[in-house]
Amino acid sequence: MNAGRDEAAPKAAAAAWAPAPFEGPVRHIYVHVPFCRARCDYCDFASEAVGAGGRAGAEVARRLDAYVDGVVAEWERERAAHDVRRLHTLYLGGGTPSLLGPERLERLLELFRPHLTPHAEVTVETNPEDVDESYAAWAAAAAPGPAPGVRRGVRVSLGVQSFSAALRAVLGRTARADPVEAFGRLRAAGVASLGLDLIHGIPGQTPELLGADIATVLDLRPDRVSWYELDVIEGTALAARLAAAGGDPSAMPADPMDDVRAAGYRRIVRGLSRAGYDWYEVSNFALPGRKARHNVAVWRARPYLGLGPAAVSTVGATRRTNAAGTAAWAAALAAGEAPPRVEEALDAATRARERLFLAARCGERVPLAEVAAVIDQTAARTFAQAGLVSLHSGTIRVTRKGRHVADQLCVRLFRDQRLRE
Ligand code: SF4
Repeated sequence: MNAGRDEAAPKAAAAAWAPAPFEGPVRHIYVHVPFCRARCDYCDFASEAVGAGGRAGAEVARRLDAYVDGVVAEWERERAAHDVRRLHTLYLGGGTPSLLGPERLERLLELFRPHLTPHAEVTVETNPEDVDESYAAWAAAAAPGPAPGVRRGVRVSLGVQSFSAALRAVLGRTARADPVEAFGRLRAAGVASLGLDLIHGIPGQTPELLGADIATVLDLRPDRVSWYELDVIEGTALAARLAAAGGDPSAMPADPMDDVRAAGYRRIVRGLSRAGYDWYEVSNFALPGRKARHNVAVWRARPYLGLGPAAVSTVGATRRTNAAGTAAWAAALAAGEAPPRVEEALDAATRARERLFLAARCGERVPLAEVAAVIDQTAARTFAQAGLVSLHSGTIRVTRKGRHVADQLCVRLFRDQRLRE
């Protein structure tokens, strides 16, 4: 590797390596489902608790139906306003999409089915407490694509967080459903693509408990694993509980020290990599050929439309964020108006920084020509000498070693000093 030479002469071919960030026709849709049975203590996602009754209850049913009507209306508006082509991916996230139940989920799928390619990827985030026999059967047999007779089922991403009931209680996840049982039910029903979502760095998560979670994941062998570090967010019930504990170790399990979290993260990466999982993003792992295509598209800065309250869209130089309130969102769409939202113009420097930031998390190469204006060349050379980035043939890539600290690395790479504060 010769950092100085490579950086000094980015090749024209490398500059044409990928489309400009967020440019081009829309082929990816995210639908935000803003309902949960109950709020978890650590979460600040936009969602409303609809109670333990979940799918039951006339008032809840009315709200869920009004929500689906809103998605139908918003999709028609956005489809008319953008260059939307045959869709490669559809992602239903939340919130808790599985709480809608098979009939409403099928209605949403009906809406998009004519616009999906035959091999489109459809993902539904699912919580274990929603996985009964009928849900598992629907997920296994639903037809994501428009091809007649093709019933491949949807991809299910199962929200586990930890297999330890005690640690789930620390997170304030009150549902009693056993995630291993839910996973087994989905697999037995024939769901062909299964992922698990987990969290590490939970207060009280000892090395033994983390080891048990890793062992269970390897035993279940899902297609994909998302394993995020817990972020204790100000304003959440968990942050308040930790603050109230005030460092008294008997009042609350100790918050893991940073180096303990880092060691846990390295252990996860090592354990899953040895078991054949590709570590394809800072917090994501997949068996060969089983990466989440929707996530990869977003990380490659492809344009995407978000529908639903709080959903974000990024198309070209515009980022649009819907306001979080479901009632106002649904009322505006029912009246034939755009939902309340804010629009932000993304200048070239912001788009270049986002491109590098996203690519860094995946270890993808980016042409230096795309990001040269926003990075500090001296810092790039220093990081290359330390083996944290690779500069090669007019491109920059964050190495596996650098990926452990990808976010901090990017901030230090950026030329704009204000971003380091
Ligand atoms: S963690 Fe998931 S289930 Fe819990 S409140 Fe947040 S979105 Fe809802």
